[in-house]
Amino acid sequence: MAALFGKILIGIYVEIKRSDGRIHQAMVTSLNEDNESVTVEWIENGDTKGKEIDLESIFALNPDLAPDEEIAQSPETPPPSASSSVKVSKIPNKNRRTVAPPKDETPARDNRVGTTRARPSQQQVEQPPPAPVPQPIQHQTLQQQNELETARRKSNCVKEVEKLQEKRERRRLQQQELREKRAQDVDATTPNYEIMCMIRDFRASLDYRPLTTADLIEEHRICVCVRTRPLNKKEMSMKDLDVITIPSKDVVMVHEPKQKVDLTRYLENQTFRFDYAFDDTATNEMVYRFTARPLVETIFERGMATCFAYGQTGSGKTHTMGGDFSGKNQDCSKGIYALAARDVFLMLKKPNYKKLDLQVYATFFEIYSGKVFDLLNRKAKLRVLEDGKQQVQVVGLQEREVKCTEDVLKLIEVGNSCRTSGQTSANAHSSRSHAVFQIILRRRGKMHGKFSLIDLAGNERGADTSSADRQTRLEGAEINKSLLALKECIRALGRNKPHTPFRASKLTQVLRDSFIGENSRTCMIATISPGMASCENTLNTLRYANRVKELTVDPSAVVEGRTGGHTVNQLDVLEAQWGVGSSPQRDDLKLLCEQNEEEVSPQLFTFHEAVSQLVEMEEQVLEDHRAVFQESIRWLEDEKVLLEMTEEVDYDVDSYATQLEQILDQKIEILTELRDKVKAFRSTLQEEEQASKQINPKRPRAL
Ligand code: ADP
Ligand code: MG
Repeated sequence: MAALFGKILIGIYVEIKRSDGRIHQAMVTSLNEDNESVTVEWIENGDTKGKEIDLESIFALNPDLAPDEEIAQSPETPPPSASSSVKVSKIPNKNRRTVAPPKDETPARDNRVGTTRARPSQQQVEQPPPAPVPQPIQHQTLQQQNELETARRKSNCVKEVEKLQEKRERRRLQQQELREKRAQDVDATTPNYEIMCMIRDFRASLDYRPLTTADLIEEHRICVCVRTRPLNKKEMSMKDLDVITIPSKDVVMVHEPKQKVDLTRYLENQTFRFDYAFDDTATNEMVYRFTARPLVETIFERGMATCFAYGQTGSGKTHTMGGDFSGKNQDCSKGIYALAARDVFLMLKKPNYKKLDLQVYATFFEIYSGKVFDLLNRKAKLRVLEDGKQQVQVVGLQEREVKCTEDVLKLIEVGNSCRTSGQTSANAHSSRSHAVFQIILRRRGKMHGKFSLIDLAGNERGADTSSADRQTRLEGAEINKSLLALKECIRALGRNKPHTPFRASKLTQVLRDSFIGENSRTCMIATISPGMASCENTLNTLRYANRVKELTVDPSAVVEGRTGGHTVNQLDVLEAQWGVGSSPQRDDLKLLCEQNEEEVSPQLFTFHEAVSQLVEMEEQVLEDHRAVFQESIRWLEDEKVLLEMTEEVDYDVDSYATQLEQILDQKIEILTELRDKVKAFRSTLQEEEQASKQINPKRPRAL
């Protein structure tokens, strides 16, 4: 009788007692009718364990599962299927030990297994047993006995098959349940589950051949590559999706989620090809190997080299150039600045270069809102001058001699702490400024070669031109302008074009000597954030990087096709007044805007002009004010002498009056001039504000 009830236990959890006295849960996996016992299984330390326990012990420990006395003793035993259904109805739902996994002693991950078994066991409970169990018979004939024996053997055999089938079915259900569970897990927490699956399926169809150290390092005059980083903690907590795939050494794909009119979502996979593509597992050393390292040789060969990290804030520019921040401290030794310095000192030891007797110097400065600040000299503001031979000079920039990599690391640390001092976050300031680190080789004082490594301002800031705050607008305008100018300068380098609009921004002006000459090489590392939330910025970054190298459009055609498109404004009046109208800066700005017609609307051009004017005027006002201040000291001294003269008994009154008048005339003239400039400056400030409001809100995008 007990065996009947034993059968319906299969697949459910029961309490069992171990030899050491522990009581825990285990699942009944089979029934052994011969000795009225069941086999139970449980998972312990990751292993499946089993034990045979007699039914009596099971019922003793699990009284709610025990057969009803009344039923068990009844002479009119109902058919097995009926008895099982009675039994099932007797087990209240809450007592069906189907879902609860073994507690305490099972490791956490076993919960999953326990849970996945829930369904099959429930089914077991609710289904009638597959075959009727033969009843014990008291008075049998031999034939009957034989028949019974055959039936028993047959039924044992059938039972074995059934068991196997059951097991298979259970496994299938477990797997299905696991799949559903996984889907539910993700579904419940990932807002873009559907998109995630599409990306996953797409990736599964790809044949991955990422860049390896065995790949050839090619010689490029202009090298443009892309690097993606892993999703960071914040992105993961926001359940952002990684929409970047780098299937091969030079291809990057962006899976952009789109929506059809009927609201069904689909992926638009955009593919870009660069010289190299680094996936989120690439180390700085790996990136360096293919990008900046080949340029070290350039500077030994009397060339000029530049390497830029370009991308939105938070995409990994500083990580790539300056080294990883682990916590608050940056490991400078793993950044491209330091890796390049290391190789410079290694190259210096090579016999060919050793005999050149080269000295190594380093500079570190930042360009913020069109102004240059020395990071190795407490952020001193520096002036940029251009001489008659178009040689650009950053006046007073500190060049420190360095003898080894450690010297360089110290300078980087000094510069970094200077750069971020007083800032609430490293990114708040660095998103608005370009940092330039230079390694300069000199031979007996004369420049031999120069390597400039630049951590650019966040490109998304280029869109700040329509901000309500002037400071933000000016920063945005300068970033927008400098990134456009940079692109044009690199493109011009690629074509050996004689004129580059380098004066359109401080950044390109300062780096001018690196963009000219046969022996100049450059590299751009476009860093991208992998999250879906950054998709638009990422696409803008990739488009920009693409344009840096694409050489199909002839900009001169664009220049010719578009003249006089801009409105005459008050600036032209100011031009006459200030005599700066035809400045090379303005000409370059005009050229730049014409070359980038797509990104620069006429309104934006007007705004840029106003900003350039503003920056120039600010410089002049400050310069004049300083001069007036100095002059005032002289006036004071002169007046003092004059007054002292009047204290003498017979001083020359005529002379006194003449001199005083002269001083006052001079004062009035100079002060009036300064006042007029300040007035004009103020009206330009207003004009800039007006111009900023005219900018088409759709433009500019982040560059
Ligand atoms: P950016 O300079 O472009 O604003 P950061 O270099 O400061 O960006 O990077 C933003 C965050 O992402 C930092 O916490 C940085 O440590 C991390 N990060 C950037 N690139 C990687 C990478 N390749 N691997 C791991 N973490 C990275
Ligand atoms: Mg940074």
